[in-house]
Amino acid sequence: MYIDCTDKELFIFKKIANAAAELDVPCYLIGGFVRDKIIGRDTKDIDIVCIGDGIALAHKAAEKFNPHPQVNFFKNFGTAQIKVDDIEIEFVGARKESYDFNSRKPAVENGTLEDDQNRRDFTINALAISLNKENYGDLINPFDGIADIEKGIIRTPLAPAQTFSDDPLRMMRGIRFAAQLNYIIEENTLEAIKENAQRIKIVSGERIADELNKILMCAKPSIGFDLLYKAGLLKIIFPQMVALAGAEYIDGKGHKDNFYHTLQVVDNICETTDDLWLRWAAVLHDIAKPATKRFEEGHGWTFHGHEVVGGRMVPKIFAQLKLPQNEKMKFVRKMVELHLRPISLTKENITDSAVRRLLFDAGEDFDALMKLCAADITSKNKQKVTRFLQNFEMVKQRCAEVEEKDHLRNWQPPITGELIMQTFNLLPSKNVGIIKDAIRNAILDGEIPNEYEAAHAFMIRKAKELGITN
Ligand code: ATP
Repeated sequence: MYIDCTDKELFIFKKIANAAAELDVPCYLIGGFVRDKIIGRDTKDIDIVCIGDGIALAHKAAEKFNPHPQVNFFKNFGTAQIKVDDIEIEFVGARKESYDFNSRKPAVENGTLEDDQNRRDFTINALAISLNKENYGDLINPFDGIADIEKGIIRTPLAPAQTFSDDPLRMMRGIRFAAQLNYIIEENTLEAIKENAQRIKIVSGERIADELNKILMCAKPSIGFDLLYKAGLLKIIFPQMVALAGAEYIDGKGHKDNFYHTLQVVDNICETTDDLWLRWAAVLHDIAKPATKRFEEGHGWTFHGHEVVGGRMVPKIFAQLKLPQNEKMKFVRKMVELHLRPISLTKENITDSAVRRLLFDAGEDFDALMKLCAADITSKNKQKVTRFLQNFEMVKQRCAEVEEKDHLRNWQPPITGELIMQTFNLLPSKNVGIIKDAIRNAILDGEIPNEYEAAHAFMIRKAKELGITN
């Protein structure tokens, strides 16, 4: 066998090989599993292609295991899956595909192994290993995918323009593999992506989002985003991010290129978190800089309010990119809105009250916010970075002290809106909100202690001011 396999994997291959021999259908390991094994990456999915009926082979193979795994199959696609322990095995019959220009749904017919390898997207994904008696374990490597793995190259098996025009999702996949594996996209392949970029419009938003998320989960997502940008794909799928690119100069004063700054922030945050949504927050933290950019005489470039405007852009961008409209989106919005707060504390005297407000506003997402804020400290000037990081450490320290004293991170004020309504016999109304906010602010500002009695007395005073009595 050409690849290094576990005993469990070898056991599984034998069972599948026996099932295939009984049905008299040749079968092969193929695709991502072979690629990842050769590279030495962890993989849990085994892809099997057979020259015959993939669903029938899955059923026959399932009988060989004890207990028999369930067979999930999709008649329309001719695919079937079984799961053995934690390993997913997918079976498909070898296919020959031909595409109509206006759709990415191919006309499919049964094919040979060669046909099937021809329709694969990249040479590194087109490697097959035989599970057949006569040549068990042999590698079938028609496009020299092994050489491309050794050189770290992404290249299509057939003419790249045709490959991408047939299924434009492959352009995103190619860039994703380049980012995941830190490979180079071969020149003609990259050129064909640039030429076919517009074709991405026929791909569903969900599939694009899937690839974007995979790029974002790489160790260095900047590789993928920069390729998407340079290939002209990003402008089509996510124009707001492209609007960050470039620097404008007035009176010899320029601002930083916010696209490359953003990529740096994203790479930085990937060193401290695997949370996809915090990574998205890094992508979006400065997204409103183009919309808020001004040149002020005497000051230079400003981006006032970009955090608030950016926060408002998050739901729309999530909808456009087919990302969820749930609490994940709200988390990203919150991070964008708050991303300047910790560092802006260092520009003034850090008062307890400002620290309390930050702790309260960030709540349970405080640690995430601090990670974003640290990742956002980028500059070519090393001294500047060191100074910012020192200030940032100071803020962190103060936050830890205040938190230890006041426990504000998951804090709820001692008086609820419900209690205010009951006390003054009010229906839900503006005044209830005013009293509630006033109590919260008085506690955060240290005017009254964080206790029920004091808050209750304050509530009565505030209500009186508003002309409300109980
Ligand atoms: P990952 O699991 O990281 O997404 P993978 O290569 O295993 O990577 P799958 O989507 O599971 O990706 O696909 C399995 C195999 O099917 C690929 O290795 C490739 O050979 C083939 N394949 C998948 N999608 C396409 C496509 N759009 N065009 C051509 N071949 C494809």
